[in-house]
Amino acid sequence: MSDNSDTIFGRIARKEIPADIVYEDNLCLAFRDINPQAPVHVLVIPKQAIAKLADAESHDHALMGHLLLTVKRVADQLGLENGYRVVINTGKDGGQTVYHLHLHLLGGRQMTWPPG
Ligand code: AMP
Repeated sequence: MSDNSDTIFGRIARKEIPADIVYEDNLCLAFRDINPQAPVHVLVIPKQAIAKLADAESHDHALMGHLLLTVKRVADQLGLENGYRVVINTGKDGGQTVYHLHLHLLGGRQMTWPPG
């Protein structure tokens, strides 16, 4: 495990601070974003503290697949049958602010392109 488990998401994963959790299993956690950018805005995080996508390694491939399939599972659970957007902000230029890998699931409205 990388040494960044004291981020706010690490604390959420350890249940040290509350979150509106919509899904959990042994590998990951999904909870509602505190500042939603769409009617549905959920973050899916690994319980293992990987700081950012750029730090993922080849041995993380099963976990990476699990996170993506969890996004799909949560989207189904929350009724996003018309589609949704999945975003991973990575590093400074990617606009990442919390350095614990997370996938944004956004839905419930029409998305536009390009993103800002
Ligand atoms: P990013 O800019 O990709 O790093 O996204 C970080 C996201 O975390 C933002 O959308 C924030 O609104 C969200 N966020 C920050 N703190 C919390 C929190 N305590 N609970 C839920 N979402 C949070």
